Amino acid sequence: MNAPLASVQAANLKDAEKVAYENNKLEKRLCRLMGQAIGDFNMIEDGDRVMVCLSGGKDSYGLLDILLKMRQRAPINFDVVAVNLDQKQPGFPAHILPEYLKKIDVPFHIETQDTYSIVKRLIPEGKTTCSLCSRLRRGILYRVAGELGATKIALGHHRDDILETLFLNMFYGGKLKGMPPKLVSDDGKNIVIRPLAYVREQDLARWAELKQFPIIPCDLCGSQENLKRKEMKAMLRDWEKRYPGRIKSIVSAVSAVTPSHLMDRSLYPFETLHATGQADVNGDIAFDEDPCANDAGDLKSIQIAAFNED
Ligand code: SF4
Repeated sequence: MNAPLASVQAANLKDAEKVAYENNKLEKRLCRLMGQAIGDFNMIEDGDRVMVCLSGGKDSYGLLDILLKMRQRAPINFDVVAVNLDQKQPGFPAHILPEYLKKIDVPFHIETQDTYSIVKRLIPEGKTTCSLCSRLRRGILYRVAGELGATKIALGHHRDDILETLFLNMFYGGKLKGMPPKLVSDDGKNIVIRPLAYVREQDLARWAELKQFPIIPCDLCGSQENLKRKEMKAMLRDWEKRYPGRIKSIVSAVSAVTPSHLMDRSLYPFETLHATGQADVNGDIAFDEDPCANDAGDLKSIQIAAFNED
């Protein structure tokens, strides 16, 4: 027997309310995490002109969208200018971003530079083109930032990009090095910021779907996405599935580094270390049992200092 119309309508209404509630929660979370990252790292100051690099992917759309929301409620004034670099990749739909940016009424600049041909000319067929391509792109964006009078360059890298980079560097580069939320550019002239540093990729994907951003595919150049990065992404996903909370713990760990308990002699003066004769309550417990040894996987005991995702 069919359910009465009134109960079907009530159920639909309930579903719609639930979806609206979840969407609202997502928006609040995105704003809160971006606000937290901006505050924690003093990314944006009064009077800044922030150049948002827009590729046409879900992350950079999310960055611009949430930053504009944050600007409305920020206690400081700052300008936003969106910049896209048209690298002349075959099939790049050059009309999409200008149309979108006009629609949302954001000042923008499209820089056209045929880096695609340069990369194709210089890199032998079958070799990875990303490294030269991104070096060229970086140089162009730094120059454009100067021409536009931008004081900050905002990039759309998120928390998962940062963690993937951390493990890439550790596994393949022999370095404990992630992706900084704020840095001085290699030409020394710009401050680059990553306001999505605390934001999960899955939240940006949901936001992009919800907002129906006109996404431009990222494989137009024909280059394969870095396979090693894919491997890191899969590893982190698998860890999180098998050990819920592990990602939070890793994020917390990169925000709470103890140089005296690593082995980098440039960060800690091991050579000149002497006993002080003074007891230190926060001192080392070198002879104690490893606190995690009997309780592996119990992440409740770990202080998640950086932020709360919910
Ligand atoms: S995927 Fe293509 S556009 Fe992106 S960095 Fe690599 S070569 Fe450049």
